[in-house]
Amino acid sequence: MANIALENVLSVHHWNDKLFSFRTTRDQALRFRNGEFVMVGLPGEKKPILRAYSIASPNYEEHLEFFSIKVPNGKLTSRLQHIQPGDEIYVSRKPTGTLVADDLKPGKHLYLLATGTGLAPFMSIIFDLDIYDKFEKIVVFHGVRKVSDLAYRELLEEQLKDNPYIGELVRDKLIYYPSVTQEPFVNQGRVTDLIRSGKLAADIGLPPINPETDRAMLCGSPAMLEETQEVLNELGFNISAHMGVQGDYVIERAFVES
Ligand SMILES: Cc1cc2nc3c(=O)[nH]c(=O)nc-3n(C[C@H](O)[C@H](O)[C@H](O)COP(=O)(O)OP(=O)(O)OC[C@H]3O[C@@H](n4cnc5c(N)ncnc54)[C@H](O)[C@@H]3O)c2cc1C
Repeated sequence: MANIALENVLSVHHWNDKLFSFRTTRDQALRFRNGEFVMVGLPGEKKPILRAYSIASPNYEEHLEFFSIKVPNGKLTSRLQHIQPGDEIYVSRKPTGTLVADDLKPGKHLYLLATGTGLAPFMSIIFDLDIYDKFEKIVVFHGVRKVSDLAYRELLEEQLKDNPYIGELVRDKLIYYPSVTQEPFVNQGRVTDLIRSGKLAADIGLPPINPETDRAMLCGSPAMLEETQEVLNELGFNISAHMGVQGDYVIERAFVES
């Protein structure tokens, strides 16, 4: 399989019984734009099952990081969730994707709107130094069902501020807005309601979301994407055409429904 590299698992972190992250070695020849995805699979089968995975680490790191769901009886993740450091894993050599900053028109505020594992590509993007040059504020919205689904919360809330490379930029420009739908939490509700009501922008001290100043990237369930697109379109946002024609927002599915 010439298009697939065999990497080694370096570490695994289980957030809860549904979510985990893992790091792998990185083929030195692998080049990608922050926000892109690759195909990931496990060796040991005649025809390996490969699934799309956003790279959750920035393109200047030596390792690759992934943030994964554990689907009960999932063809890949029922096995993938048991990986251990030292295990081998397939990573495709051709990263691709639509969540790239170059496809967005210049703007003042960038909204990274994620549900569930849709946070993964944005974890790569917020480590990108260039993104802080392009935008005055970068808002990471992470919508989940339970508080324990807020993976990377400590990093986003606290640790990133002390990061030697981007700490200062993060303190100045990054706004993290976690929201929980099925348990009591400081922020509650779905992204569509929070945009429509103006609550999201008001809570973070920015003007109501509008296409004059704001740009967005969306990554979540097919339903979240459909509903959020509807709200953005109503507000006058135009989706990027991905063919060198920049738009006000870009989208990518966090998974495909079977
Ligand atoms: C462009 C793209 C990028 C992706 N990036 C990631 C990523 O970074 N992390 C990640 O965990 N998955 C990601 N996925 C989904 C991933 O490709 C697989 O669907 C996931 O690994 C489950 O595979 P499986 O074989 O275990 O499940 P399957 O046996 O294929 O079962 C899939 C079913 O599980 C549900 N499901 C699958 N993935 C998810 C998910 N992420 N969140 C909630 N429900 C889900 C859906 O209902 C789907 O029908 C991405 C998908 C696409 C299209």
